[in-house]
Amino acid sequence: MTDLTLVERMPRAELERLQVARLRRQVARAAERVPLYHERLRGAGVTAGDIQSLGDLRHLPFTVKSDFRDTYPFGLLAVPMEEIVRIHASSGTTGKPTVVAYTRGDMDTWSEVMARTLMLGGVGRSDVLHNAYGYGLFTGGLGFHDGGERVGAAVIPISGGFTDRQLMALRDFGSTVLCCTPSYGLYLAEALEEAGIAPKDLRLRVGFFGAEPWTEGMRDALEARLNIVALNIYGLSEIIGPGVSCECPEKQGMHVAEDHFLPEVLDPQTFEPVPPGVTGELVFTTLTKEAMPLLRYRTRDLTTLVTEPCRCGRTLTRIGRITGRTDDMLIVRGVNVYPSQIEHALLQVPDLEPHYLLVLTRETALDTLEVRVEARSSVAEAGKEALAALGAVAKRKIYEVVGVTVEVTVVPPRSIERSVGKAQRVLDLRK
Ligand code: ADP
Ligand code: ZN
Repeated sequence: MTDLTLVERMPRAELERLQVARLRRQVARAAERVPLYHERLRGAGVTAGDIQSLGDLRHLPFTVKSDFRDTYPFGLLAVPMEEIVRIHASSGTTGKPTVVAYTRGDMDTWSEVMARTLMLGGVGRSDVLHNAYGYGLFTGGLGFHDGGERVGAAVIPISGGFTDRQLMALRDFGSTVLCCTPSYGLYLAEALEEAGIAPKDLRLRVGFFGAEPWTEGMRDALEARLNIVALNIYGLSEIIGPGVSCECPEKQGMHVAEDHFLPEVLDPQTFEPVPPGVTGELVFTTLTKEAMPLLRYRTRDLTTLVTEPCRCGRTLTRIGRITGRTDDMLIVRGVNVYPSQIEHALLQVPDLEPHYLLVLTRETALDTLEVRVEARSSVAEAGKEALAALGAVAKRKIYEVVGVTVEVTVVPPRSIERSVGKAQRVLDLRK
């Protein structure tokens, strides 16, 4: 295998030349082959030839989620079906699934970026990779699968669910790498504890957690309970699936596979770039996609750009934690609140477990948010008053951290439903 990671250390000027050349080709491809882009680029008065530097990105039109719906299922394809070798769809967290397709070349890019992702955690031939991301239309399962094979790891395609089998594989097959959503990782940790299997009975050393928002508090819990290094990985089907970006062991933001996917972080109102460190909407332009080139796709995910050089020596830019999606935002008494902010506050209260649900109701004209969260068993055993007292502490903490007053109900361990894939954190009963 050629050194896939060479590009990760390219001097920035060289990387930018590569990006500009690829961007020009990608725009030409989109304009020639995708009617939507043909129209939009003409409307914007831009041609591929106008692209001289990365600064020219700003002249390109945006793509939004509804463009997928309006052209459902295959209107954004730049190639005939004969050239497609794989079809996936987004999990449809926020509506009708988004269909995406891959050529043989796209599959190669995908396994390359996933191999690079796994190599960030030092994964290679001697590893056993427990892949509990869901297999199927969701890109998580097969994305990790192909990357795992490409680095030569022994991949266990266990998918999600069937807890006993998960524990059996984790222990008996000597899994060293765990891949799943953070909420499912926590569920597995809990199941291991209940089965009396201690982390030292396992060979796990690193985990790749993503597909849903999570916090540093959640990282601490996963690392302590599984005795692993927990890395944050971010991707989305529209761009390719997992493999778009991932943390290195420095854990100071996720390196973007910028030679394939060009990131921007923009002010969601003005669409101007925000300075590094300031939160905005993440926007991606694909640079090498064959089946579905996407120009300035608005992910609706909120994050920051981290541009200072990373201690690991990679020159690829980084993005901070995804703090939420613009469509996840709750408005509680006029204050904008993201579920991950509530998680952040809850995990600062020692006697709470990281299992929670946000319940939205509407009694009069006002929306009310109730936070249900689990207590440690010791508190639950101490009785109702202990739970109520803990609820009061959590309520104060949320007010301190997020600035809103919410109802907090502390419930006994195991009362909140566990998820296999993406956790459902919000229950909306307002209708
Ligand atoms: P969807 O969930 O929109 O149906 P996907 O299955 O493609 O579609 O999931 C992509 C989305 O998952 C991202 O846009 C983002 O909102 C979320 N996501 C993925 N990885 C992370 C992560 N590490 N942190 C927070 N959110 C993530
Ligand atoms: Zn790094």
